[in-house]
Amino acid sequence: MKDASVDRTNTRPVISLVAPFYNEEPLIDRFFKTVIEILQKTGLEWEIVCVDDGSSDRTLERLLAGARANPAVKVLQLSRNFGKEAALTAGMEASAGDVVILIDADLQDPPELISRMLDKWREGYDVVYGVRQSRDSDSLGKRISASGFYRIFNRLTPTPVPANAGDFRLMDRRVVDRVRQLPERTRFMKGLFAWVGFKSTAIAYDRPGRVAGQSAWSYWKLWNFALDGLTSFSTMPLRVWTYVGLAVSLLSFLYASFLIFRTLIVGVDLPGYASLMVVILFLGGIQLISLGVIGEYLGRVFIEVKQRPVYLVDQVYQFDRGDAAPADDS
Ligand code: UDP
Ligand code: MG
Repeated sequence: MKDASVDRTNTRPVISLVAPFYNEEPLIDRFFKTVIEILQKTGLEWEIVCVDDGSSDRTLERLLAGARANPAVKVLQLSRNFGKEAALTAGMEASAGDVVILIDADLQDPPELISRMLDKWREGYDVVYGVRQSRDSDSLGKRISASGFYRIFNRLTPTPVPANAGDFRLMDRRVVDRVRQLPERTRFMKGLFAWVGFKSTAIAYDRPGRVAGQSAWSYWKLWNFALDGLTSFSTMPLRVWTYVGLAVSLLSFLYASFLIFRTLIVGVDLPGYASLMVVILFLGGIQLISLGVIGEYLGRVFIEVKQRPVYLVDQVYQFDRGDAAPADDS
């Protein structure tokens, strides 16, 4: 039985590097070159699990070329684009190593950190995650929305997500298995990682810009991602309406008392179109917003209930030296 405070100084773990690829054709050769060099330097046994997330360019062909050149490279081709979270889930499930490292394909997560992550793992940490020292490579809008998101998320959920930590992280096999066991379809990974816990530590790093290509994240995607995260980990947006309702009821009770009192004293006073309109529109708005929030949750319940798989694998490729046929599909 392993213990959290176990000394792993002299263990030789097998490393699984998991990377998602969505239309990354121009930088794949550079990715393999950089990453393989660093993995070889560790002197440990390793594998690279590449997930082709339904790319529409020649990403798969480039990945297969890498896999042919190196039998430790495994390529998982998803049946369409499922998104980064699903691709990471697929990669983690296909990985076999004692430690699993998630890394972006665009080399924005510096692979040089891998050996430092391993050192931390040897010290007994089960999770070592990268934290960006600065967000200089991001636009102002992205920085503001990111910091706002972390603040709101961490206030609303009992399992805070470290700010500016991405998916770049090393995890012990035990952690990977626990994350895999979480049955939900909405894979908000940062939240899932925070939820499973375990002994964790951070490594600060500077995040460079992309080496090639461009980010697949539009503001609309980020907004929906944030909604997924919030609704998967907090019911606060649902519960808040109880209090809004109570406050509005209390105010209207006070106002009603005032009106009754005034009518008794000075009699009926008909003008009131403006105030009526304001109250009706205000309450109508509030009700629609609260309905919308309920709808957000209901939609997600619907998705969970359908129990569709998080991703579908089209083919798994892994080549022996000098072998050109795809490995058995699983
Ligand atoms: N990615 C993916 N599926 C998607 C979008 C992105 O697998 O639908 C991968 C992408 O290939 C890259 C990683 O996720 O390896 C991070 O994507 P990106 O660089 O666009 O995000 P950013 O660095 O801006 O957060
Ligand atoms: Mg990137």
